[in-house]
Amino acid sequence: MQIYDRNGYQIYRISTIRCKCYLICHEGKSVLIDTATPIERRKITSAIKTYAKGRLDGIFLTHNHGDHAGNAQALSKKYGCRVYVSHLGSLNLLIGRPGIPKGLSPTGRFFERMATSLSKIYDVSLYEPCQNVHIISVDVVKEIIGEEVVVIDTPGHSRDSLSFVVCDDVALVGDIMGKGIVSMFPIFGEDEEIIIRSWLQLLDTKCQYFAPSHTRIITREMLEKQLEKER
Ligand SMILES: [Zn+2]
Repeated sequence: MQIYDRNGYQIYRISTIRCKCYLICHEGKSVLIDTATPIERRKITSAIKTYAKGRLDGIFLTHNHGDHAGNAQALSKKYGCRVYVSHLGSLNLLIGRPGIPKGLSPTGRFFERMATSLSKIYDVSLYEPCQNVHIISVDVVKEIIGEEVVVIDTPGHSRDSLSFVVCDDVALVGDIMGKGIVSMFPIFGEDEEIIIRSWLQLLDTKCQYFAPSHTRIITREMLEKQLEKER
């Protein structure tokens, strides 16, 4: 589904059960933001075929958790492109082992406990190790998909969390914003204070829309209201 078309940039949302991935297309080139899990690989490849004529120039990961990095190795191999991630997540990606994220809410803590006990039998967070891992930078992003896409560090959900700002208008924010009836905090995270700092950093851009990986698009106004509540 196309969610953006301005200044020669198109953004398509690929909704899978575990994670919303985004395809950014610009002047015949395209990059995939996040890759979902192996059972939903087909959905991703079919979207690349439909929206990007089967061409992929790079895979950018918002962070190294399994629901975002699960197809990184397979898609990198299929399209012959590199996988870019923050230097803080590169080692986990190379070994396919991100570790179990910390629960921030009661639901998050419940899943954390469950995953920790299960990990004695099978580590649910594991995924296929990625061989073609490279460190992301502002220059690399510009070189691959043009001047109007900027990567910024937005830690708090995980240490390596990144956001991608397109045309200073919309930001693809991974898991730094989550769904909640009363809160926009993700259910898993490293630290609430750091999350708030990342939200403020996103508000420092001119972005009007924030597109997270597990919930609907959040407007600048909604984020500002949430921040008021936290103060
Ligand atoms: Zn995550």
